[in-house]
Amino acid sequence: MSNKITFGPSCVDPFDPNSISVAEALRRIEQRVLPVVACERLPIRDCLDRVNNEAVKSPHDVPPSPNSAMDGFAVAIDSLVAGGIAELDEIGTAYAGNPFEGECNPGQCVRIMTGALIPQGTDAVVMQEQAEVTESGKIRIDGDHRIGENIRQAGEDVQQGDTVIDAGARLSPADLGVLASLGIAQLQVKRKPVVAFFSTGDELVSLGEPLEPGKIYDSNRYSLHGMLSRMAVDIVDMGVIPDDLDSMREALAKAASRADLIISTGGVSVGEADYIKPALEEIGTTEFWKIAIKPGRPLTFGQIDASIFMGLPGNPVAVMVTFSQFVMPAIEVLSGATLRRPALFRARALDSMRKKPGRTEFQRGIASLDENNQWQVGKTGKQGSGILTSMSRANCFIVLPDDNSGVEPGDEVDIQFFDWSR
Ligand code: AMP
Ligand code: MG
Repeated sequence: MSNKITFGPSCVDPFDPNSISVAEALRRIEQRVLPVVACERLPIRDCLDRVNNEAVKSPHDVPPSPNSAMDGFAVAIDSLVAGGIAELDEIGTAYAGNPFEGECNPGQCVRIMTGALIPQGTDAVVMQEQAEVTESGKIRIDGDHRIGENIRQAGEDVQQGDTVIDAGARLSPADLGVLASLGIAQLQVKRKPVVAFFSTGDELVSLGEPLEPGKIYDSNRYSLHGMLSRMAVDIVDMGVIPDDLDSMREALAKAASRADLIISTGGVSVGEADYIKPALEEIGTTEFWKIAIKPGRPLTFGQIDASIFMGLPGNPVAVMVTFSQFVMPAIEVLSGATLRRPALFRARALDSMRKKPGRTEFQRGIASLDENNQWQVGKTGKQGSGILTSMSRANCFIVLPDDNSGVEPGDEVDIQFFDWSR
């Protein structure tokens, strides 16, 4: 392919007044991407990380009936003596799953286990550590107890008709437990989006092949595969596509026939060997964005039939940054999930950081808690957009907003922990 020098946008260009902000790029993504409509009904174990389709309302109270929160003795508070000690007759035992069937009368008590139904005629559970068994088998309890003590009331966790899981929620392990507690065995969830991805570049060699001069191993497909594997999507890896218009057009058309979202890396600048834009213009619609972000400035966004296309830059760090900031939200919207912004934490910078105002920078950081339990963050050495080890050593992005013009040690900065499963 040609080695001509290019004058168009590249990742290292300084501030460009034509670029859009990160927030504006996100707004356009949210506006353009449509959620998948189709659903499937699955056993709840298979619903982990999937998107709930319709709000789940509880068919009954949880717990369904009052039960004991402790091992001890079920008593009627009226049987106790204010300021003194009552001696009660133990008339039976209530087990979790095996209730005491009789009635507890004044002067009596029932031995009770955690989770057992509260016997008729009792209104409190006294912990066994607060009761004393006499030699003759009587149960001695003081008067310092109140009605409802150690009783889990019906509906204390969930009341019948309460919404327990919202539509658009991504199901967590706790959600699966809540569904089970309601007796719900199956749930309707959105189908998984299909995401196809490929690398572009004549310099790229796949693993297992020898590295000829001028070639490099394709790393983007591996980091992309890793990030996508953490999300509830079906993945189609389309390999490396050479830098020519026909191959690119063919790859895009093939990807569009099977995927909801197509991701490519490389070839989105306007160099002689950058064919993403012309190929997309032939078979779809395209918006070419310069985003005020570093790394990751050039990004192509478009559509081929019903499929969304996101052309990420080629540099390996830029791929991971733009994936985390733009592709992940696009997948959230596509999945039908309620969009959540990644959490930012304040941290004290340990290093100085050079930065020009006018764009948002995502430096790679290692965050830890200091001796006062406050976050502190240092850089992972060289920050070039091709230095992928700066990502693998890091646990967070240091997010420097548009107006920031540099950081000195001791300054407060925002950090965003890596979360490839959002
Ligand atoms: P491009 O945007 O295609 O000009 O690529 C920018 C830089 O990223 C070039 O140095 C490419 O060699 C490099 N690059 C592109 N794709 C990959 C990839 N899949 N793996 C590793 N480096 C890549
Ligand atoms: Mg290239």
